[in-house]
Amino acid sequence: MAIERTFSMIKPDATARNLTGAITKMLEDAGLRVIASKRVWMSRRQAEGFYAVHKDRPFFNELCEFMSSGPTVVQVLEGENAIARNREIMGATNPAEAAEGTIRKLYAKSIGENSVHGSDGPETAAQEIAYWFAETEIVG
Ligand code: UDP
Repeated sequence: MAIERTFSMIKPDATARNLTGAITKMLEDAGLRVIASKRVWMSRRQAEGFYAVHKDRPFFNELCEFMSSGPTVVQVLEGENAIARNREIMGATNPAEAAEGTIRKLYAKSIGENSVHGSDGPETAAQEIAYWFAETEIVG
């Protein structure tokens, strides 16, 4: 298995409930290393840029409103099979469908306010890491 990097974000519903440590611990316990991390209150424009792939979806406005409504923690995670591993620990987008023991099952409030984001493939991981981090901020 390859050592990969992925992009992760702790969303405003989770930072509001002081869950940054609890969520990060779940990621670390699963063998992922946090090699970059910072707290960001993104602008509406930054949210629209980050989620541009969803711009024609009915939930786009609501999503960008939510993501710019409070602080997030953006992170780069590294580890074996990190992209798929992170998606596994996150659980399904809709918490009602998320498996037991996943972050979203434990903490997500709804399909929109679902506590975490994680890249869904190698290309998006590279793009999303570059969207939020300079190379010098990533310390592997
Ligand atoms: N989302 C939403 N309503 C939906 C589907 C998605 O508000 O019906 C939001 C939700 O916050 C989700 C994000 O849009 O995490 C991106 O959607 P995607 O399908 O990429 O899910 P993810 O990769 O985050 O599981």
